[in-house]
Amino acid sequence: MNTLLASYPDFPLPGILFRDLNPVFADAVAFRAIIDELAEKHRGQFDAVAGIEARGFLLAAGIGYAAQCAVLAVRKGGKLPGTVLTEEYDLEYGSARLELEVGQLPAGSRVLIVDDVLATGGTVAATARLVERAGYVTVGVGVVLELADLDGRSRVGAVPVHTIVAV
Ligand code: AMP
Repeated sequence: MNTLLASYPDFPLPGILFRDLNPVFADAVAFRAIIDELAEKHRGQFDAVAGIEARGFLLAAGIGYAAQCAVLAVRKGGKLPGTVLTEEYDLEYGSARLELEVGQLPAGSRVLIVDDVLATGGTVAATARLVERAGYVTVGVGVVLELADLDGRSRVGAVPVHTIVAV
C-alpha cells in the first residue's frame, strides 16, 4: 500500500504534507484488503459504521456492506436536514464543524468510526462526541493511515484505534 500512497507538499496550505489515498482506493486489491481488515478487526463488536465526510464515506459503505451493518454519515456543517448534533473542532489546518442526524439507531448502538487519515485526532474525537451525544457507544476507530508524529491517538481517549499503515 505504501507504494500507492501519494504525498503532496504544501497542499492545501504551506507546511502541510497532504497524503492522498485516492490511488489506494483506485486499486481494487488494496481497497478490498482495507475494507476486509477494518471490518474484521472489530467483527461482531459493532452495529453500525460511521464514515466521516468525505473519504470516510467510501470506507463506511464498504464496511457496512461487508459486515451487514448500518451506515451513518457524519457530515460537514450545514449539509444535514432536521435535528442535528454539531461539534466544532480544530484541524491540522484550520477549524471545522461536523454534524450527525439524531434518532437513526436504537440507543446504545455500538458504532465503529472510520476515516482515511488520523492526523491530530480532532476529527475522530469530534465524531466520537457526536456518537456519544446521539446516545450510541463508540467501540472502535479504524483509519487507513496514521500520521504518528501528530499523536492523534491521544485525543481519541480509551477507544481502541486500528490503523493499517502508520508513517
Ligand atoms: P485530524 O482531525 O487532524 O486528525 O485530521 C483528519 C482529517 O483531516 C481526515 O478527515 C483527513 O482526511 C484530513 N487530513 C488531515 N491532515 C491530513 C493530511 N496531512 N493529509 C491528508 N488528509 C489530512
